[in-house]
Amino acid sequence: MFGSVAGRSVLVTGGTKGIGKGIARVFARSGANVVVAGRDAATGTACAAELTALGGGTVLFVAADVATRAGCTAAVAGTVAAFGGLDVLCANAGIFPQAALQDLTDADLDTVLDTNVKGTVLAVQAALDPLTASGRGRVVLTSSITGPITGFPGWSHYGASKAAQLGFMRTAAIELAPRGITVNAVLPGNIATEGLADLGPEYRATMEASIPMKRLGDVDDIGYAALFFATDQAAYVTGQALVVDGGQVLPESPAALTGA
Ligand code: NAP
Repeated sequence: MFGSVAGRSVLVTGGTKGIGKGIARVFARSGANVVVAGRDAATGTACAAELTALGGGTVLFVAADVATRAGCTAAVAGTVAAFGGLDVLCANAGIFPQAALQDLTDADLDTVLDTNVKGTVLAVQAALDPLTASGRGRVVLTSSITGPITGFPGWSHYGASKAAQLGFMRTAAIELAPRGITVNAVLPGNIATEGLADLGPEYRATMEASIPMKRLGDVDDIGYAALFFATDQAAYVTGQALVVDGGQVLPESPAALTGA
């Protein structure tokens, strides 16, 4: 009974790989026209061609670094120029390099916070006018369970950045409600992406063992959660965080998993 998003204009930052590509694929298959934004042009161009070939909406690549205001402005302008407006912003671009707290450098902090926090705020700011003009503007943030709910050694800066997105979301949701714009977040657990593969097979195996469903999530699992927030039926949902993690945050102890 959910309404269609066919014909809507969607921008997915970090849409060229991983979770963002899954979000873009779900929207494109639903008939939406999608811009995927990222820094690497070869990856982005190939992604756009692959997703367009699925036969749903059109998918285009726009080169943009979300850590800069110019990059976010270019991504939004490219979407509006291509599709005549912007209805949905999926602020998904993010990085998760690991560094122990005692070793964190200024550069480590700046890189993660600039991409994950500043990049989120700048993208939403750049999208404000076209989302308002849409009359049914939607912002969907990709946060994480790491930070808002859980912790993991090496990710103190990353966890801080993902929790900061939710702090931003709650006030943005209030400020943008009079414009008819909703602002929500998906909190993925461990999802099989190129970025997660870089963490190695041992990390993956440890995570699979700690998930009640005993498998990593698929990028499309996050795409469908983002799609829900974009439907007309979710118009009254704002400022909310939806965990999509196969139950990973639920066990009170390792024994809770072995007893299942
Ligand atoms: P990924 O496979 O490494 O993909 C990251 C995407 O973001 C790529 O398209 C990348 O393209 C883009 N990107 C990175 N920095 C950017 C920048 N400065 N400007 C524009 N684009 C940029 O990562 P992922 O695993 O899909 O993660 C995506 C999001 O999900 C992140 O916000 C992450 O925190 C969140 N998340 C992931 C997981 C997981 O299990 N994978 C779990 C929880 C949350 P370029 O490198 O070409 O720019």
